[in-house]
Formats: sequence, structure tokens, C-alpha cells
Amino acid sequence: MVVAVVLAVVVSTGFFGLRYWQERQAASLAHERSRQVLDTLDRLRAVIADVEAQRREYLLTLDPSYLKAYGVSDESVRRDTQALQALVANDPLQNHRAGHLALTVAAKLREIDDIVKTAGISGLAALTMIRSLDEIRSQIDQMVDHERLLLVDQEKRAEALEQRKARLIATAIVIVAALAVVGLALARLEAIRRRKAIAENIALHGDLLARDKKIRRLVDANIVGIIIWDLEGRILEANDAFLRMLGYNRDDLASGCLSRTDLTPVEWHDRDSRTVAELKRKGTVQPFEKEYFRKDGSRVPVLLGGVMFEQSPDQGVSFVLDLTERKRAEEALRQSEERFRTLVQFSFDVYWETDAQHRFTHQEFADSLAEAPAPGSEIGKTRWEVPYLEPDEEAWRKHRETLDAHLPFRDFELARAGPDGSKRYVSVSGLPVFDKTGRFVGYRGVGRHITERRRAEEALRAMQAELAHTNRVTTMGQLTASIAHEVNQPIAATVTNAGAALRWLSAQPPNLGEVGDSLRRIVEDGKRAGNVIDGIRALINKVPPRNDRFDLNEAILEMVALTRSEMLKHGILLQTGLAPGLPMVKGDRTQLQQVILNLILNAIEAMDDIDERTRELRINSETEAAGGVLVTVRDSGPGLAPADVERVFQAFYTTKAKGMGMGLAICRSMVEAHRGRMWASANEPRGAVFQFSLPLEQDESVQARQIRSNPAA
Ligand code: ADP
Repeated sequence: MVVAVVLAVVVSTGFFGLRYWQERQAASLAHERSRQVLDTLDRLRAVIADVEAQRREYLLTLDPSYLKAYGVSDESVRRDTQALQALVANDPLQNHRAGHLALTVAAKLREIDDIVKTAGISGLAALTMIRSLDEIRSQIDQMVDHERLLLVDQEKRAEALEQRKARLIATAIVIVAALAVVGLALARLEAIRRRKAIAENIALHGDLLARDKKIRRLVDANIVGIIIWDLEGRILEANDAFLRMLGYNRDDLASGCLSRTDLTPVEWHDRDSRTVAELKRKGTVQPFEKEYFRKDGSRVPVLLGGVMFEQSPDQGVSFVLDLTERKRAEEALRQSEERFRTLVQFSFDVYWETDAQHRFTHQEFADSLAEAPAPGSEIGKTRWEVPYLEPDEEAWRKHRETLDAHLPFRDFELARAGPDGSKRYVSVSGLPVFDKTGRFVGYRGVGRHITERRRAEEALRAMQAELAHTNRVTTMGQLTASIAHEVNQPIAATVTNAGAALRWLSAQPPNLGEVGDSLRRIVEDGKRAGNVIDGIRALINKVPPRNDRFDLNEAILEMVALTRSEMLKHGILLQTGLAPGLPMVKGDRTQLQQVILNLILNAIEAMDDIDERTRELRINSETEAAGGVLVTVRDSGPGLAPADVERVFQAFYTTKAKGMGMGLAICRSMVEAHRGRMWASANEPRGAVFQFSLPLEQDESVQARQIRSNPAA
């Protein structure tokens, strides 16, 4: 519209301008012509005046010199009248007058010529002539007046034109100014719009650039493979990461030989078809795993996700992640788990895990232990573990302390009743587990079904007990004479004392004091005999192992008493060094007495062949620095060769004609059953030393240490 208005304004301005110009041209032409007309008329008047003057002088004087210019003036009169006619050709009135003037002039000039030719004419002729010239003059005047009027009229029109011009210019200026203002306003509006559009464009462009940059960066960073494809499966673009993943290069890509179908193993084609369908339907596909062929034909597992482009409906972009490492790690983990499982299966019957509150979170049990504790149940409080036949409450309390202290534990043995009522044993070991920050998160452990082992151990123990018993009975057999002597002695003393008592009773008066003394001795002897018999019975009787607290020194002395006659018979010099205040020992008193008895009898036997020197036997007891008690039996016999120091403890090793070679083997196993140690060494300067040590219970070892540091106590 603006353009139309501008055009209309321009056209109309042009039109008015042109018209003004044309009118202006016409006015100036008319003005010029009028001037020329007036000039011509003036000249004509002057020429006519000249002609008149010449002719009149001639006529008055008849001097031919006045006619000199004659002919010239006529000619110029004729020319001027013609020019005049030409000038006023467009003005009918003036044209008519000019024509009339030309005719009049031609007629008058002819008339004058005629007068002149008829020389000698009087002054009357001259006057006539002059009058006829006056007519010409009056015609000229008429024309001059007319022309002057025209001139005035023309000047008025010129003035009017000037005014129109001024108005036109003013109007043009106003229009131009208005147009300029409108144009400026429009230009300003346009500039604002443009600026806004540019700003928007710049922002958009910047945004696009930023996004483009980010995408470029992602593509160029080559952290993940990125491909641009079409739905037919052609790969149109790919970054280096993708090409590297599959072992291709840019030339392969440029040659267009990379296509989904060729790169994908046939068993994945179905999955690809589903992907394409999903892309067509939703425009995007969730990440999924598949495989590609590498250029060398090997396969690479990948994770793939893609999206279609909005603007080009059959193209899209995908990211491709190489899963080789992850798959390898998964496989390694699977294999390691398999190995671990195999190891556990063949080594253990139970695998278990607990949380920080000792609640089971994971258990795997062999078939032989099918009933697993329910997940979430707490160690020591499960159906599987309760009621326990072993260990006792005290051991459980200690075990819980270990767990609460987050310490490792080994071979914690539990027993409960099996389906047939027999004991079923499991030995459990566990390690505390801590996270990276060192926080305790639970236990991980294994267990072994040890019922069979325990049965075997029990059978072995029973067998050993049987052997030990046999050994004891045999030993007793050897001691029969000594024992008989040992029992006979108090019996004989009793008889003697009874005789003495009878005698004191039959005296007059009876000496009741002596009778009382004799009776007291009888009682003591009776007790002594009873003790000996009790001891023998204990040794010979087959009793199950017991767990007493007893005085070791007293037990040693009983064995010394039992063998006293044997020692006397063999001329043995006995020395005892029993530590006073020896802490009480926990164990089977009879078994440990058997050990001491065996050592004493072996020593007596070993020294039997010694004649040249004293046969010395020393029995010592003491507390050990490590916290325990140590019993030492030394003799001055032939001693032990270094090679025999260990061999003597082997079963059936004997150097005696009637020996069984079981004594020391049984002794060692009995000491070890008490968690003690037994060993032999050479005595200085001669003879053998047999020693055994027994550990003390916690509180007793503390006591023992106190005694050592303060023997007076
Ligand atoms: P046995 O007495 O039936 O031979 P032991 O096991 O008691 O069985 O003893 C094994 C062997 O150890 C003996 O035959 C003997 O050679 C040796 N032995 C045992 N005690 C001593 C000792 N005090 N001095 C030297 N040798 C000994």
C-alpha cells in the first residue's frame, strides 16, 4: 500500500511537474515570440520612417542621392513583413493584421515607387504618400498594442505559473516530508523488527551452535560409537569410535559398504527387524544388546540405542557401546564364581553370609544338611541350630562375644540332634567383612559336616581308651607282686596293731590309752590299704573319661606310693621335687596317673641293667612360664639316642623282649587329649628325661603366674 501511495504521489507529481514545465515552455516561447514581434514591428516602423523620410526629401528636393538607399529599405521592409507573418502565424488576429500589413506595405511601396517614378510631382503627392504611410503606422500600432496586451497577459500567466510552481514545490516538499516521516517510521519499525529477528536468529543460531557443538563434541570425543543410518540399514555417517570398534576405516565408510545387515550376525536379524518396527512406530528405541561383525569376522557385543530424525523420516542416529570389556569381566566373574562354587562344593558343606546384626543373608547347604536357617534368622537363634547338643551355653556366649567383636573364628563346632536322634556335627569358620570405609557389614563363612569325622574320632578315642585300659591292666599285672606287698603291708600292720591292742586290753589294769593308739593306727592302716585298692580299682576299672579338677601333686604321690615296693626291689633312689601350691589341673585324673605310672615303670626298667652307679629317679612338678604345669621324670639309665627321642612315642616301638611298644604312644595321645604336650630328651650327664606339660584354664594360669611371681603366697 505504501508503495502504491508513493507511486501515486510520484506519478501525480511528475504529471503536474510535466504540465508546469510544458506550460512554462509555452509561456516563454510566447513571450519570446511577442518580443520578436514587437522588435520586428519596431524595426518595420523605423524602416517605414526611413523610407518615408527618403522619399519625402527626394520628392521635396528631387535629389537622387536620397534614393541611394532606395531598394535596400524596400527589401528590408518586405523581409520584416514576411518575418512578422511567420511570427504571428499562430495568432489568427495578428496573422490577419500582419497579412493585411504586408499587403498594405507592398501596395504603399508600389504606390510610392509610382509617385517617385513620376518625378516632379508636387508636394501634394508627397503628403498623400505620407498619409498612406500613416495607415501602415496605424496598423503597426494596432499590432504593437495587441502584442503588448499579449505580453502583459503572458507576464500575468508567467506569474501565475510561478505561484503554481511554488505551490507545487511546497506540496512536493510536504509530501516528500510526510513520505520521509512515514518512511522513517516504517524504516524504524522495520529496523526494530529486523533487529528483533536478528537477535532471535542470533539466539537461535547460538543455541543451535551450542547444541551442534555439544553433539559434535560427543561425536568427536569418541567415547561411544555414533552412527547415522537410514531405515534400509545403510550407515551414512560414523565416528572414529564406531569404526575402530569394528575395525573399519573412513574409506570403507565412504565406499558405502557398511550396512546393518552385513554387519549383523544372522541370529540378530530378527531383533533388528523388531528395532526397525519400533523406530517406525515410536521414533525411538530403548537401548538393547546385540552383536556386530568386525572387519576380521570376529564378533563384538554392543549396547545400542537410537532415535529417528524429525526432519528426515527415514534417517536416525544411534549410539553404540562396546561391551567386550564388560562381557569379559562378566565372564571372568562367572568363571571365578564357578571356581569358587566348585571349591566350596568340594571343600565345604556350607557357605553362609550374615549382615551386621549376624542375621543370615545367604546360605548354601549340601544335601546332607538340607535344612538351612531361614534368611534373616540370627546366628545361634535358628531352628537349624537350636537346640544345640554342643557346645554348651558358656561356649555360645564366648562365640557371640567373638562375633560382636568382629573377629575371625575357626572350627567352631556345633552339634544338634539328627533325624535319627544321633548327633550331627558341623564345624563353622567365618571371617568378618568390612566395606571400603572400614564399617563392619557382616560375616562370610563356610562350614563342614563333621559328623563322620567326629564319629571316627570317637571310635579312635574309644579304641585308645581300650588300649590304654589294656595297657594299664598289663602294667597292673606286672605290678601284682608290688601291689600285693603294698596291700599286705597295712594289713600286716593292722594285724600287729590289733594284737598289740588286745594285749593292752588284757593287761591289769587294761591300758586304754595304748589300746586307743593301736586302734587309731589300725584305722590309718585300713585307710591306706583302702586307698591303695581304690587307686588300683580306678586304674583297672574301665571308666569313661572324666573332666575333674584335681591336685596333680597328690596324683603323682599316689603313683609313687603304688610303685614304692617296686622301687625298693630294684634299689632305686627316688627324689621328688613337687612345687608347692601347684594350681589345680582339669582333666581325667586316672589317665594322667597312668601317664605318670608308665613313666616311672619305664624308668625303673631302663635302670635295671645299671649296676655300676646309683639308680636315681627324680620326679618334679612346676608351673611353666607360658602358663601351665610341667611334670618331669628323670632317670640315670642308659638314656636315649637322639634318633630315638621321637621314635619312642611311635606305637609298637619297643626294645624289650616282652614289650608292647604302646605305653608311650598312649601316654602322648592322652596328654594331647588334655591339650598338652609330651616329649623326651637326654638327661645330663646320663639317663633319659620324659616331660609333659598341661595347659591351665584362664583363671588358673593367672593364679599360676601370681604364685610364680610371689612363691611365698
Ligand atoms: P614298652 O615299654 O612296651 O617297650 P613303651 O612305649 O613304654 O613300650 O616304650 C618304648 C620304648 O622306649 C622302650 O622299649 C624303650 O626302648 C624306650 N624307653 C622308654 N622309656 C625309657 C627310658 N626311661 N630310658 C630309655 N629308654 C626308654
